[in-house]
Amino acid sequence: SNSNKIISELEAQIAQSGIQNEVKVVRTGCFGLCAEGPIIVVYPEGSMYTMVKVEDVKEIVEEHLVKGRIVKRLLPGGTGKDENASVEQNDFFAKQHRIALRNCGVINPESIDEYIAFDGYKALGKVLTQMTPKDVVDTIKSSGLRGRGGGGFPTGLKWEFAMKQEADQKYVCCNADEGDPGAFMDRSVLEGDPHSVIEAMAIAGYAIGSNQGFVYIRAEYPIAVKRLSIAIQQAKEYGILGNNIFGTDFNFDLEIRLGAGAFVCGEETALMTSIEGHRGEPRPRPPFPAVKGLWQKPTILNNVETYANIPQIILNGAEWFTSIGTEKSKGTKVFAVGGKINNTGLVEIPMGTTLREVIYDIGGGIPNGKKFKAAQTGGPSGGCIPASHIDTPIDYDSLIQLGSMMGSGGLIVMDEDTCMVDIAKFFLEFTVDESCGKCPPCRIGTKRMYEILERITEGKGEEGDIEKLETLAKNIKASALCGLGQTAPNPVLSTLRYFKDEYIEHVRDKK
Ligand code: SF4
Repeated sequence: SNSNKIISELEAQIAQSGIQNEVKVVRTGCFGLCAEGPIIVVYPEGSMYTMVKVEDVKEIVEEHLVKGRIVKRLLPGGTGKDENASVEQNDFFAKQHRIALRNCGVINPESIDEYIAFDGYKALGKVLTQMTPKDVVDTIKSSGLRGRGGGGFPTGLKWEFAMKQEADQKYVCCNADEGDPGAFMDRSVLEGDPHSVIEAMAIAGYAIGSNQGFVYIRAEYPIAVKRLSIAIQQAKEYGILGNNIFGTDFNFDLEIRLGAGAFVCGEETALMTSIEGHRGEPRPRPPFPAVKGLWQKPTILNNVETYANIPQIILNGAEWFTSIGTEKSKGTKVFAVGGKINNTGLVEIPMGTTLREVIYDIGGGIPNGKKFKAAQTGGPSGGCIPASHIDTPIDYDSLIQLGSMMGSGGLIVMDEDTCMVDIAKFFLEFTVDESCGKCPPCRIGTKRMYEILERITEGKGEEGDIEKLETLAKNIKASALCGLGQTAPNPVLSTLRYFKDEYIEHVRDKK
C-alpha cells in the first residue's frame, strides 16, 4: 500500500541522512483523521503531517528531522492553524478524549513491549495481586460503564450476574463482528491496540471465574485478525495468557473465531450459536447469556470498545471514569463519522458532547457550504437526528428520546440535498438482506416495508402507503424475535417522525 511505500522511503531517507541512530520509525494503527491520511507524526514535537506522498518524505527528513524546520505545506488542511500545534491541539483532536483509542496511532500494535511501555498489562497485574473478583466487578459497576455495542446495558451488572453463577465452566466473549454500514470503531481498536482487548478479557475472566475467552471477529477484517493473532501469541510467550498468570493460580486462554459476514451474528445469541459451530441464528432470551450462554454455560459478551475501556478504569479508578460524561452515560464514545462532512474519521468524545461540536468543531463542517440536514446514528438499528436538535448532548438516553440510538457508533452526516426517504430505504434494504429468516415479522414484514418504500421513491406511491408503513413498522418492532428485527423499522419511523413531508411529497407529486 501507499503507507508501506512511505515507510520504506522514510527509512531510506533517514539512513541516507545518517540519523538512523537518533530517529525511529514506528508503524502505528489508525490515527482517526481518515480524511487526511496517510499521516506522519514527528515526536517529541508532535507535529502532524497529513496526506503525505512518497515524494514528500525527502523534504520531511531533510527539513524537519535534520534541520528542525516544520514543513508548513504538509500541515493538516483547515484543521492545524498553528504550525507549532501538536496533535492534541489540532482542532480535530482538541475536543476528543481518547480512552478506548488512547494507543491507536501512538504505539506499534504488533509490539507487546510498546503496549507494556504505555502501562499495558498493569491493570491485569493489579487485579490479580490486589483485588478480589468482587472488587473488580464493584469497580466496573461503580464506573457506570455501559455496553458500547449498542444496547447500553451496564457492564458491571452483566459481570456480576455471571460471577454469581455456580458452574464448572464459564466463558468470556468479545463481539468484534462489527457490521453496521459505515462503522469501523472496533476494527480500529483491534488494528491499533489489540493488547488492550486481551488484557480486558483476562480481567473479565478473573472477575467472573472463567479460564476461556473467545473473540468473534469478522473475517473481512484481515489486518485486525492478523494483529490480534500476533498479540495473542506474544501474550502467551510473555506468560500473560495461559496457566499461572503472573505467578498466581489464575489461568486464562483466548481463541479467535472468524465470522463469515452475516450481520445477524453480531446479535449476542446468534454469535454464540455460531461459535458453537451452528448456523448463526438468534435464540430466544431468557435465558440470558450470563446464566446460559455458550454451550449452556454462564457467558459474558462485550464488544471491543467496551473492553478497551476496562484497563483504564482499573488503573485510574471508577471515580475518574465517572468524572467524564453525563449523569447516566459515563466516559466516552467512539464514533465513525462519515457522509457529508469535511473531516471524516474516527473520533472519541466525552458523553454529552453536542452533535454541533462533533460536526462543526471536530468535523470541520459540511462541504461546499451546504446546510446540515440530519445525522444518522446507530446504523440500521438507529434513527436520525434533525438539524433542529443539533445542540442535543450525545448520550444513551437523549438519543433514545429523539427516536435514535447510540448503536455501536456509526454517525453519518447528511446535507440539505439528501433525500430522507432514500436514507430510510438504504438502511431497510440492508436489514432485508441480512434478516436470518427465522421469524416471519422480520423475514416478511421488512420485505413488505421495503416494497412500499421502493414504490414511494419511484413515484408510484399510493394513498395509504405511509400509514401502512407505520403500522407494519410498529408490528415488526413488537413481534420480531431478536434485536435485528425489533430495531429494523427505526430508520423508517425516525424519518417519518421528522421528515414526513418528504414522504408525502413523493406520494403526492409522484416523484
Ligand atoms: Fe432472524 Fe430477523 Fe427474526 Fe432476528 S428478527 S431472528 S434476524 S428473522
